[in-house]
Amino acid sequence: MLEAIGAGYLLSHEGEVLEVNEVLCRLVGFSREELLGVGLPWPFWPPESLATSYEIRDALLARGLNVGATPPFEVPLMHKDGKRFIAEVTVTPAVLPDGSFLGWVNTVRDVSERRDYELELQRLATHDPLTGLANRRLFDQRLDEEMSDAIRHQRPLAVAILDLDHFKAVNDAHGHPVGDQVLNAVAERISAGLRKGDLLARIGGEEFGLILSEVLAQGALAAAERARRAVADRDFGVAGPLTVSVGVALRGDLHATAEIYNHADQALYQAKREGRNRTVVWAPSQSGSLG
Ligand code: GH3
Ligand code: MG
Ligand code: MG
Repeated sequence: MLEAIGAGYLLSHEGEVLEVNEVLCRLVGFSREELLGVGLPWPFWPPESLATSYEIRDALLARGLNVGATPPFEVPLMHKDGKRFIAEVTVTPAVLPDGSFLGWVNTVRDVSERRDYELELQRLATHDPLTGLANRRLFDQRLDEEMSDAIRHQRPLAVAILDLDHFKAVNDAHGHPVGDQVLNAVAERISAGLRKGDLLARIGGEEFGLILSEVLAQGALAAAERARRAVADRDFGVAGPLTVSVGVALRGDLHATAEIYNHADQALYQAKREGRNRTVVWAPSQSGSLG
């Protein structure tokens, strides 16, 4: 029966391993002989999971014996060769018909593949496949979060929207695939000049959004100009030189995410109107342009 269940099985009592099945031995790389009689911490619990192991034990003792299996929890475990895998573990108290406690039944499944797949799905849902940058969805979500944080802690916040100038001409002259390569190169160049903690996202075809936390007007302008120059300063191979227009908005005393975004968009529109390849900052009290 224990071999047929398909999951790793380990019976323990007061931390001591009383029985294991073949599946568990295969998962963790230790033989039955190496595991029987061993106490906590079990050799397949890596150091980074030890705290979890003791939390689980405390939770089990607090739960008592009449409550069935724990909900499955995920924890990194370690094969004998040191390789980590994500395990899904459940623990069930085994109580004999006469009411005496036999031990804890631990089931262990390797869910690394499922976990990798979930992470990949999550990455696809939040990132742009061409540039690897955050996508519009993650940008909107982060902007909401940053806005709430900034309001709660009375901290400054700025948003920049960058739109490539006359980008249609690049596609028209060199074709869409070259246009895509250029977009990728633009993303790389702008990313290279960012501070840790700034979020750059591809929010449209040839539009990028930049969230600058904890910066005032001077810092926001400097960051926007750095991004603008990162594009304008060197050319892009066959596609030649290219420029970008930037609209910046500061939180000031704004309270809505949509407001700060719209102000940045208005500033961008102004930068385009005033001749492109420039940064326009919208602020509650001032609005100026630099290019
Ligand atoms: P402007 O200076 O006013 O921004 O001019 P523009 O040509 O950049 O602006 P517009 O918004 O009219 O056109 C954007 C163009 O960007 C349309 C399309 O040819 C190109 N574009 C948008 N998304 C992509 C993309 O994913 N790949 C490629 N290669 N081109 C794109
Ligand atoms: Mg555009
Ligand atoms: Mg454009």
